[in-house]
Amino acid sequence: MGKPLNIAITGAGIGGLALAALLARAGHKIKIFDQFETPEPIGSGLMLQQTGLAVLQELGLRQEIDALGTRIERLWGLTTPSMRPVLDVRYAKWQSEVYGLGVQRGLIFEALYRAASDAGVEFVLGTPVVDFDPSVPDLALGNGERVTGQDLVVLAHGARSNLTPPDQGVDLPYGALWATLPWPQDGPFDAAALEQRYFNAKQMAGVMPSGRLDSKSPDTLTYFWSIRAELEADWRASPLEDWKRDAKALWPETEGLLAHFKHHDDLSFARYRHHTSKHPVIGRQVVRVGDAWHAASPQLGQGANMALLDAWALAQAISQTSDISDALKTYLKLRRGHVRLYQIMTWMFTPVYQGDSQVLPWLRDWLAAPFSKLWPAPQLLAAMVSGAIGSPLKRLGLR
Ligand SMILES: Cc1cc2nc3c(=O)[nH]c(=O)nc-3n(C[C@H](O)[C@H](O)[C@H](O)COP(=O)(O)OP(=O)(O)OC[C@H]3O[C@@H](n4cnc5c(N)ncnc54)[C@H](O)[C@@H]3O)c2cc1C
Repeated sequence: MGKPLNIAITGAGIGGLALAALLARAGHKIKIFDQFETPEPIGSGLMLQQTGLAVLQELGLRQEIDALGTRIERLWGLTTPSMRPVLDVRYAKWQSEVYGLGVQRGLIFEALYRAASDAGVEFVLGTPVVDFDPSVPDLALGNGERVTGQDLVVLAHGARSNLTPPDQGVDLPYGALWATLPWPQDGPFDAAALEQRYFNAKQMAGVMPSGRLDSKSPDTLTYFWSIRAELEADWRASPLEDWKRDAKALWPETEGLLAHFKHHDDLSFARYRHHTSKHPVIGRQVVRVGDAWHAASPQLGQGANMALLDAWALAQAISQTSDISDALKTYLKLRRGHVRLYQIMTWMFTPVYQGDSQVLPWLRDWLAAPFSKLWPAPQLLAAMVSGAIGSPLKRLGLR
């Protein structure tokens, strides 16, 4: 490493925290800014893939996360009312040792936050960044202060931020209602599968095993219900029992889960956004990581994993040279191809499972599903869900 750098990061999310920990461990002086007073894990359970797990391994966090997450070996979706399987991805078809890990977001967040704190990262919380000037570079904070003297500014503020230009990307028509619930012991769900039920692509429900927050907590699952974003207000205004009737009709075995919901607020709503910034590097000293560069629907379960790969790639690129602009060029070389591939694949796959088209789900059910059983489709699908298309691990020197 050359001289220690002063680096400011906007956003203490998954990408920002991982990067902060890696860079601080390498001896750089890191300040991370977040709008929240106390950074909190927001959002549903999520799936870690071998890509994100490889970065957590380098951070020394994989063992604890593995121990508390739930191993997922299969993605398994049936269309109703025929109950035909239309999604059947088994990780082992790609490589026998590969699996997905269902985890609570809070678990990853706490591990990364601790790693960053222990490495000496300075947290500036309750302070949104309201603007940045790439030519200096500096940051303008919500409290009127400016942060100057930085060798590098990293934009890691996620998909939805006041820093996101309004013309960047599109809100997807669908989002999801979700909730974390106790895992029903001896219940009807497969503890090693993310299961989904569809009616065309208009209705989709999902049950994902999502591990435990700590060794004393019970196992959980995350329940998802897909919904058009503009119908969320109507859903809130209608009796919850009406929706439960629809949800039960789609997937009768979820009745026990639905019984947990007494109020609309027992479910959270997340609207999805798709964008790929044309400027992952701005000027010579500002760079984007994670959703601030490339956001997508979680249909392929890649976003957090991509943010972790970005963090690793940027930390590696910085460790290889003392010239920041060379490091940023290396970072782009390491990540751009994989990001493009997955942004395109997620854009193509999302409407097949969440959308109003009649044609796409028909093609899914009657053409794609039968073909997906024929060699080499099972291997390719498993590699795709693992995040492995484009060989990102090899490229980044990760195991
Ligand atoms: C319902 C749902 C399910 C998902 N499931 C999966 C999954 O199974 N697998 C997967 O890999 N991914 C999943 N994702 C996507 C994943 O959560 C994101 O891709 C990932 O969190 C992106 O990390 P990030 O660090 O880029 O941004 P975030 O983790 O979103 O962090 C951004 C941080 O920036 C802060 N911030 C924003 N603006 C400012 C500002 N102006 N100033 C200071 N701070 C700011 C925010 O407070 C936040 O803490 C899911 C997403 C959703 C919504």
